[in-house]
Amino acid sequence: MIIKFNKEVNNNLKPAILKVIRENLPYYFPNLKFIRISRSCIIFDFIKKIKNKKLIQKKLLSFINKTILDYSSLKYKILYKHKTIKQKKLKNPFEFLIKNNQINQNDRGKFVYRKNFSKLFFALDTLIKKEAIKHGATEEIYPSTIKTSTLIKSKYLKSFPQHAYFVAPSKVDQKILKKLNNYGVNSKNKKGIPNNVLGQLDHSLCPSACYPFFEAGENKELPIQMVTSLVNCHRFEVSDVKHLQRLQSYWVREIIFYNKLKNNQKNLSNFMKWINKTLVRWEINFEISTANDPFFLDVGRKVVKFQSAQNLKHELLLNYNNNKKIAVGSFNNHLNHLTNAFKFKSKRKIPHTSACIGFGIDRFLYALFWQLGININKWPKKIKKDLKINQITKS
Ligand SMILES: [Zn+2]
Repeated sequence: MIIKFNKEVNNNLKPAILKVIRENLPYYFPNLKFIRISRSCIIFDFIKKIKNKKLIQKKLLSFINKTILDYSSLKYKILYKHKTIKQKKLKNPFEFLIKNNQINQNDRGKFVYRKNFSKLFFALDTLIKKEAIKHGATEEIYPSTIKTSTLIKSKYLKSFPQHAYFVAPSKVDQKILKKLNNYGVNSKNKKGIPNNVLGQLDHSLCPSACYPFFEAGENKELPIQMVTSLVNCHRFEVSDVKHLQRLQSYWVREIIFYNKLKNNQKNLSNFMKWINKTLVRWEINFEISTANDPFFLDVGRKVVKFQSAQNLKHELLLNYNNNKKIAVGSFNNHLNHLTNAFKFKSKRKIPHTSACIGFGIDRFLYALFWQLGININKWPKKIKKDLKINQITKS
């Protein structure tokens, strides 16, 4: 099905708005599949046969117009931008990485990393970790599940209900255990487990790297601190997850600050300057700009407007696939939202606040492969030195 737009609508279909349409579509129109956008129209396909095409077309057009209206006022301010002239046309490294057995796709958006890819993964992570430790961070290790109540307290479920993954044990009932014992042997359905065998969904997979830190600090009085951790994060993606640009399981090197607001701002800006300098050294095309968390439903929209008004979130975007950009890092000033939500105790007149920086190591590395090519021996000298690439290829 093709939906045509007038010029005005077409001009407003910016990538950020298309992303919202793409992410929301399956929740509002389960029978439609977003295909692509061409010059003056947007192309959808029907998953199942549909009776009232005209009505859906009308509803869809009003959904698109409303999304444009809601989000078109968002402005992104670029803080740093770097473009090197050296890079040739970018080539997709995905097929090479698969063929070379450096990555293996286990499932939608879930990968195993091996050989040079895994060595570079640790090299990049170590570089960021060392920088954090240089600034006074101590390293912590977090579990990969959090309490579901944490998703509620932190307002994650208000902003991103579509990405949550809930975890449940089996019911504490020996009949259920027996059922599970024989499940897949007697049943034809080997794909999943029926809901009636599940216990309480009071745990969730960690969707964002700093939640275990706030769980740990709940109702406690913490000293000023900077901590860092490499966290396996998870988010459910209903729409296409192709290659490594959209992942359902990914790794984030997180740096968390608990300090005076002024010091948190200084820390955020110092790390921003450091990554800026590093990427210029490595001859990488990138930008750092203001950002909003991906938004969903009406409450999310309020968060978006608040964030952009206060410059609370910045993103590090690396070029890949010609003119496209992929977010590989974010700088977040939480103000007192999370410390209040988790009831951090303080005797101070103005309690300390929190902030965090997260680098998505998988996507960061993927973007480096896009920009610098599949032969890591040919990468610029300075990145080879920083990531110790000569040692990686020899070992
Ligand atoms: Zn965080």
